[in-house]
Amino acid sequence: MTKLKIIILSLFTFAAVGVVLFVAISKKPPQYYIRRDVAFGTNVQIAYATKKGNAKTVVDAMFDELKKLDDIFNAYRPTSELYKLNHSNGEWVKVSPRLLNVLKYSMKFAQLTDGDFDPTLGKVVVLWGFNTDDPNKWRLPSPQEISNALEHSGYKNVEIKDDEVRLLNDVWIDLGAIAKGYAVDVLLKMAKLNDPNSTGYVDIGGDIGIIGPKYGNQPWKIGVRDPRGNMNDSIAYVYLYKGTIATSGDYERFIIRNGKRYYHIFNPKTGYSPDNFEAITTISSSGIFSDAFGTAAMVGGLSKTEKWANELGAAYLIVNEKGKIIKNDLWKDYEEP
Ligand code: ADP
Ligand code: MG
Repeated sequence: MTKLKIIILSLFTFAAVGVVLFVAISKKPPQYYIRRDVAFGTNVQIAYATKKGNAKTVVDAMFDELKKLDDIFNAYRPTSELYKLNHSNGEWVKVSPRLLNVLKYSMKFAQLTDGDFDPTLGKVVVLWGFNTDDPNKWRLPSPQEISNALEHSGYKNVEIKDDEVRLLNDVWIDLGAIAKGYAVDVLLKMAKLNDPNSTGYVDIGGDIGIIGPKYGNQPWKIGVRDPRGNMNDSIAYVYLYKGTIATSGDYERFIIRNGKRYYHIFNPKTGYSPDNFEAITTISSSGIFSDAFGTAAMVGGLSKTEKWANELGAAYLIVNEKGKIIKNDLWKDYEEP
């Protein structure tokens, strides 16, 4: 063999190997790095794949970030920023940009829903004991206790000026209806910043955000839990390539007294939990919106939910108080892969 032939042959071999390899790589699904852990006061699962090869580093950074967010938004941990704001005795307090953002968003949502969404129900939540994970502490307060707690709540008691906040009337802020959705948005941004073509999802206690389609082009199939079934019973499925999905329901933290169910979402006008729906699941492009919308809808009921969804662009599936499924047209777009 002449030298020329050898070079051509080896080049050809190299090229052929390259093609085979390329096909093999592109056919092979990306390897998801998956981490499950308790964080942000709930079960968190993150699946992440990136061609940059740093999936584990990024997922670990996401969990670190959740810890930082918990140090801001956990209303009932004495070291958190929100706890300190709640115990500031009506003084003006300078708050971090993140807390300010989420507070402003909450106030906007409170106005939009005419106070059905209310970020100042801390005293009501604590009274019922639903701020703790311990079911033995969940209880039915007396009507007098409830009216006392309601006197120290109401979003109109929050004043915001530049980056300072003042709480009047001893209200306590509780961002439990919105913080998980916000955290979803923060983690999705981290994933995309690392690699715009990365894929996977984040699931923060059932508030889910899609980083990118499965294997780069397949939708993720997500089950909607049956509010009267077991953990793994689904009543519907959706297929998401992107966006976020969140559920509010009456089955996570509840007590039954005299045959009536009381749970951790409250009508801010009465201090009792509403009876409109067993659950609502919302899909939208924003995690904080999906989370806030569901909580507001539980309080507002069907006609307000329809109106808000039309105005704001939310896809929803409701299981109403009789167990009947009600979904809007936007939801139907997600029912097929
Ligand atoms: P979960 O956090 O269980 O997934 P939600 O997103 O609906 O469910 O949030 C419920 C939490 O929101 C409650 O635990 C409480 O902290 C807070 N909350 C209760 N009622 C309201 C309300 N009307 N508006 C805003 N926040 C509320
Ligand atoms: Mg919510």
